[in-house]
Amino acid sequence: MLIIGLTGGIGSGKTTVSRYFEEFGVPVIDADQLTRELVAPGQPALQEIVEQLGADLLTKNGELDRPQLRKRVFVHPKQRQVLEAILHPRAHEAALRQLKTLRESMHPPTYVILSVPLLIESGWTDLVDRVLVVDTSPAQQQQRASQRDSLNNAHINAVIHSQADRNTRLAAADDIIHNNTDLSALQAQVATLHQQYQQLAHPR
Ligand code: ATP
Repeated sequence: MLIIGLTGGIGSGKTTVSRYFEEFGVPVIDADQLTRELVAPGQPALQEIVEQLGADLLTKNGELDRPQLRKRVFVHPKQRQVLEAILHPRAHEAALRQLKTLRESMHPPTYVILSVPLLIESGWTDLVDRVLVVDTSPAQQQQRASQRDSLNNAHINAVIHSQADRNTRLAAADDIIHNNTDLSALQAQVATLHQQYQQLAHPR
């Protein structure tokens, strides 16, 4: 079972690319989703966040106030390190567990996509056989992320600068998807890669 690490900056198109792989029946493990599950009410990681960063990060319903947390870690980079130290090892372990389950299933998939926004920055590359980068210009990242989330430009810029820069990401890539035109071009690149990954996993 080949493991393809999918990464790219904010608004680059990772979620869209993942959806296209899923349409081919390829399982996608999404680190963002794993992290959301880790901070659900009652989970030890949420408890630790509250203990270390403050109970004001909880909503009235006892859920993590994600917008508040996002703001907080941008103003206080040290707190971002604390948060990452709580979440990264747990998300890494959860990904390993899911990979194991897939590998040991009755019909293991030929390959899986492991989607991790900070794949290169946070040392997840040890989990993957290949790195697939979705590449977009910073201007397009700005435009797409702001359309999707109504985040302001300053915030999106801050995220872009907190992530690996475009050249560093491209240097780490085995494969690149250029997401600079329309969605049909994006889908076509996924279709080509799907063929290549199947071939790589089971050479004929
Ligand atoms: P994030 O890291 O911020 O979660 P992402 O990398 O997962 O972002 P997507 O959510 O896939 O990025 O894409 C961002 C937005 O841009 C979405 O609204 C998506 O529909 C849109 N988008 C992505 N690629 C294209 C494209 N080629 N043409 C038009 N819209 C696009």
